[in-house]
Amino acid sequence: MLDSLFRPRAVAVMGASNNPLSIGHIVVKNLKTYGFRGEIYPINPNQPEILGLKAYKSILEVPGAVDICCIAVKNVLVPQMVDECGRKGVKFVIVHTAGFREMGGDGARLEDALLETARKHGVRVYGPNCQGIMNSDPDVSVYANFTFTPLNRGKASIIGQSGGVAELINLNLRKMGSGFRIYASHGNASDVSTNELLDYLGHDPGTHTIMMHIESMKDTPGFIERCRKIARNKSVLAIRTGRTQAAATAVSSHTGSLIQQDSLTDAIFERAGVMRFHTAEEMIAAGYALSNQPVPSGPNVGIIANAGGPGIIAIDECVLNGLNLAQFSEETKKKLRDGLIPEAYVENPVDVAATATPEHFSLTLDLLNRDPNVDAILITMVTPPFVDCEGLARSITEASGKMTKPILVCVQTNENWAGTVAIIRNAGIPVYDYPETASRALAAMARYGEIRKRLAEAPAQAKGDKARAGAILAGAKAGFVSQAAAFDMLAAYGIPAAKTVSVSREPAALPEVTFPAVLKVDSEKIVHKSDEGGVVLNLEDGDALRNAFTDMSGRFPEADFVVQEQCPAGTEIIIGIKREEGVGPVMMFGLGGIYVEMLKDVSFCMAPLSEADAGRMVRKIRSFPLLQGGRGIAPSDIAAIEQVLIRVSRMAQDLPEIGEMDLNPVIVYPEGRGVKVVDARIKKQ
Ligand code: ADP
Ligand code: MG
Repeated sequence: MLDSLFRPRAVAVMGASNNPLSIGHIVVKNLKTYGFRGEIYPINPNQPEILGLKAYKSILEVPGAVDICCIAVKNVLVPQMVDECGRKGVKFVIVHTAGFREMGGDGARLEDALLETARKHGVRVYGPNCQGIMNSDPDVSVYANFTFTPLNRGKASIIGQSGGVAELINLNLRKMGSGFRIYASHGNASDVSTNELLDYLGHDPGTHTIMMHIESMKDTPGFIERCRKIARNKSVLAIRTGRTQAAATAVSSHTGSLIQQDSLTDAIFERAGVMRFHTAEEMIAAGYALSNQPVPSGPNVGIIANAGGPGIIAIDECVLNGLNLAQFSEETKKKLRDGLIPEAYVENPVDVAATATPEHFSLTLDLLNRDPNVDAILITMVTPPFVDCEGLARSITEASGKMTKPILVCVQTNENWAGTVAIIRNAGIPVYDYPETASRALAAMARYGEIRKRLAEAPAQAKGDKARAGAILAGAKAGFVSQAAAFDMLAAYGIPAAKTVSVSREPAALPEVTFPAVLKVDSEKIVHKSDEGGVVLNLEDGDALRNAFTDMSGRFPEADFVVQEQCPAGTEIIIGIKREEGVGPVMMFGLGGIYVEMLKDVSFCMAPLSEADAGRMVRKIRSFPLLQGGRGIAPSDIAAIEQVLIRVSRMAQDLPEIGEMDLNPVIVYPEGRGVKVVDARIKKQ
């Protein structure tokens, strides 16, 4: 476990020096300055004393046991230093030094050498090319890191592959008057991995929220599994950089790992229960709130303002981000009317007016707390010079102490009211500068509430004839399986499809064929059949079918063919699976034709799906209203679509040999009339 790393009793620093511009110096200084509770052992062969501490010529001379050795010496010397650490019995080395795998070539070889030495001695390696760790727990107070932001205590822990981004998070938490619990920036992560850090933070009682910066992922299934467990109790927030192609190139040259598509990240995070943010700023604003306030039990926000306009900004931003404006109960409104000044507005957002006193704030907060229609409270306030603002602040903190609903506050003020802001912040109530930021942070909190519910959902039940489908697949070569086989596999999973019959010779007598019929070429070499003239629709009778067959078999002399019942027209959708290497099966859903091809209007979700996942996949696409119907369009059979999604998800789980599958199109009929798959492409891997 990582206890010795995050709760060390003694830290040695190799490369410690009296040069104030060296990393070794800064690490010793930080350990001292922020009150490390254990022993600090500077190691330097030439200096008897560093920053007032006795220095040792070698780690082997250190008298006591050492949990961590921070290493900040030239890269080529690191393996030898690790060897000495091993002989000393050091548990973890934090290698700050850069010039390893991130450089490629010699650097990568050096990293291998370092790892081999460490493994030989049972020393764990944190980094290399990393900033280090910090733990703000007062019992430990360890700052084994060369960065510059003072240690501020908070309840959010930070994991940053990049030290620069971890620092960005820390710095801005501090600016907001908050801090961190554990800070871990692990650079190349050659040994101690992100997943191990997650395990540790998941069990750390002082960590309420985890904020991550991810550049590349190793062991994605492990990441998902851990996060799903952790996120039931603690919110996990992340930004993943390298979203644009330009940035992806920079990332790959930086860490040697290639970034995958952005939507894949979305699907992974969604499955993991990790909240994804696209800017560090928004993640920090949300993490600040989530680490300090309770999770709202629903999306209904009550807004209190002592100036009208900012309250209206808050409404817009809340609603745009998925929150609802709570409808106050009649009782709440009556009591507000009785208790506030006549000019006050007692609907949501409550405008208590600029003259509102601390008592008015207390009353309003108390009523909103009691009102079951309100799940969360957002206050946007100015600091009127003619009001006891510190009194207002105290009324907020007192109310907050009595409730389980979250409160977020936007205070519009200047430095003259720093005391007012401090009163609110010191009670663990997040204060923001902008109503938009506060609103989005609140929306993120509600989103986390949804995630917790989602993580409790069970995979949907669907049974398929795994043995039968598996046997069909086993009999096929790698690559695209035949149309005939693909439709048999669908049948094994009870997925409704157009009746499909294989024909390899002239279809003289085919009792199974009903008209109108469709003739299609069936060859693993022809992926887009209609593009190559391999689909003939509207065959009304046996003669038409025979003619079409003669024509097609002339054009595709090597191929097989299928005859299919022609299904009535309906809405065409696409359902697919792609098994992503190292990740697992990802499902896709969208409307067919131009919607998928030109608008890329599709949704993704990793299998296995819950019933609710299937519902969300269908509803997530922008074109969903077309399925929902209205304005003369009949509502589609959405339940039947969800059933196909669930059964396909089951297939993906049961049959790992399926690398890709495309049901394109599935024809959807009006409510109650089902769906029919008319084209199935399955790729065996
Ligand atoms: P491909 O996608 O390989 O070009 P499809 O089998 O999907 O070939 O056929 C092309 C189009 O023809 C489909 O998108 C659908 O509109 C229509 N089609 C194909 N088979 C049927 C069928 N059995 N019933 C009704 N329409 C069909
Ligand atoms: Mg098709």
